[in-house]
Amino acid sequence: MKQTMMKAGVLTGPRQIEIKRIPVPAVTPGMMRIRVSACGVCGSDIHMWKAGKGWSPNPIDNFHMGHEFCGVVDDPGDSDFQAGERVTFWANLYCGACDMCRAGKEQLCRAVHGANYIGFVCNGGYAEYFVGKTQNAYRLPDSVSDIAAGLIDPLMVAYHAVRRSSLKLHDKVLVVGSGIIAQLIGGLVKKAGASYLAMSKIDERQTGKAREIGDFDAYFDGNDPDRAAKMQAASEGGFDVVFEAVGAGESLAACMDGVKPGGEIVMIGNSITPTVPFDLNRAVLHEMRLTGSVSCTKKEFAETIDLIAKGVIDVEKYVTDVLPLDQLQYAFEKQVSPTEPVLKIVIKP
Ligand SMILES: [Zn+2]
Ligand SMILES: [Zn+2]
Repeated sequence: MKQTMMKAGVLTGPRQIEIKRIPVPAVTPGMMRIRVSACGVCGSDIHMWKAGKGWSPNPIDNFHMGHEFCGVVDDPGDSDFQAGERVTFWANLYCGACDMCRAGKEQLCRAVHGANYIGFVCNGGYAEYFVGKTQNAYRLPDSVSDIAAGLIDPLMVAYHAVRRSSLKLHDKVLVVGSGIIAQLIGGLVKKAGASYLAMSKIDERQTGKAREIGDFDAYFDGNDPDRAAKMQAASEGGFDVVFEAVGAGESLAACMDGVKPGGEIVMIGNSITPTVPFDLNRAVLHEMRLTGSVSCTKKEFAETIDLIAKGVIDVEKYVTDVLPLDQLQYAFEKQVSPTEPVLKIVIKP
């Protein structure tokens, strides 16, 4: 007999997740159901956890987040997937019909505008089962493990950002930030032929993995009042490309301290406040190029899976914690702790 109830990590209030037994979601036309195998904890989940609510204007029954997940097809619905196949879902709930979607820029879909994602506006992968649009499902090759699949989402963000940049062989690259996106960008940039790769960070909490993996050639203290002089000296006149992977005025200022005249700053970090201070004249007088980067295209999502499958980058190396669904609340507390050396947590329901 099919299971009718399932465990889910329900967001019940600010900084509060409760493991509840809730009905297994039903499959409707255009949708399919999976048994979730793994789900990565994302920085944007932390924002919703702190707020105690998702991004949907309408209340959702037993709202549970999770958008970095994979699983095994349990009920393929009206799709051509087979029960038992391993799949992951792209969180982007793009419409497929607007001018951006038709131009292959689904990350800029008029119906998404940076918010319309699985696990943000509808239930996600912090549960035993998930029902989602077949349009968003992708088969997983055997060479992509469940844990690795939990990192497809941050890797796609890093991959799109590197492709959006003007990076060329031998360029010098600075990454501002020390989180998972920053470190994956570093890994990809090194593969793409950067001759010198540095990180600007404000503490050591998350740098353990980066130092162990060894892609970064240098680390700068973002709080050092002499950081501009040190960055310019180490890079012999500034970095060709700088990636902003924090989302704050201070980290954007660090990017401007590091970039060379005529260089590029690629901005990936999402700011909590709608505006940040910005040295406009400096950007103008140094002809800095500012490039925004969000999510990735539909084509790049499939390519991100392939990058892992082909062994271009070993994303499992970046995982610091694998925890059961029962410890989801603890996972969030650990992720925001100022002392825990957490880089990436993957939940196994
Ligand atoms: Zn994410
Ligand atoms: Zn669209």
